[in-house]
Amino acid sequence: MIATEKNGLKYYQFERFTDLGVKHGFFTRLGGVSPAPFNSLNMATTVGDSNENVLENLRRMFAVFDLDLASRYDGWQVHGATTICTDVPRDVRARAMRADGLVTDNPAVTLVMRFGDCVPVIVYDPVKKVSAVYHAGWPGTVLRIGRNVVRNMVNVYGCEPRDLIAGIGPSIGPDHFVVRQDVRDKFRQSFPDDLDEILFEQDGVIHIDLWKANRITLAEAGVSQIETAGICTVCNTQEWFSHRGDHGKTGRFGVFVNFG
Ligand SMILES: [Zn+2]
Repeated sequence: MIATEKNGLKYYQFERFTDLGVKHGFFTRLGGVSPAPFNSLNMATTVGDSNENVLENLRRMFAVFDLDLASRYDGWQVHGATTICTDVPRDVRARAMRADGLVTDNPAVTLVMRFGDCVPVIVYDPVKKVSAVYHAGWPGTVLRIGRNVVRNMVNVYGCEPRDLIAGIGPSIGPDHFVVRQDVRDKFRQSFPDDLDEILFEQDGVIHIDLWKANRITLAEAGVSQIETAGICTVCNTQEWFSHRGDHGKTGRFGVFVNFG
């Protein structure tokens, strides 16, 4: 990934997407207006920060790419696997729809999501010109949300999985994602043939590799062009909001994609 700083904000991008002219960014927590513990580029109003701060932070993120704030479409992220296809920006006077996957074929729509340890994934089809972003915490990973997103791109927009490129962004890494047995059992059910690849035990505790699990789901859906950032948010709380790293009191960082 490439890191860039502009207007005091710092964000990361996948070269593959940039080369294809896709505007996108995984924004660090730097360069916003929110006070501690949401310092400072917090994108979520659900964590205790003010609406005014979050709106200003969003405005700053969009300004880096000269995007119109009114072009945004975001969902109410609920750790599910529901995916929404939209060809218009969201009516921000109405409540956001419950969705953890967003897809659009409209270059004038900017898809936006928020993260603080969960896995952010962006997908783009350079042939059919369709973009997607999804939120894969452990529940979404177990529910195989990536499969839903690809299925929507294929069924609604006629995409071919082999044309898709995907980028798995910064999130809690396998070094820090330690789980209890009940969570392990859910992965055992969802990934019966790939457990050895995604699960390991160290000093008597169970670790899960969410990056690999999401990669496997995408690969099974026919996507072969996948990049992984390999950045652990818990290891890098100076740059990333991290639910575990900041012991629950923190903000959420923004991820967006727009191919216009
Ligand atoms: Zn880590």
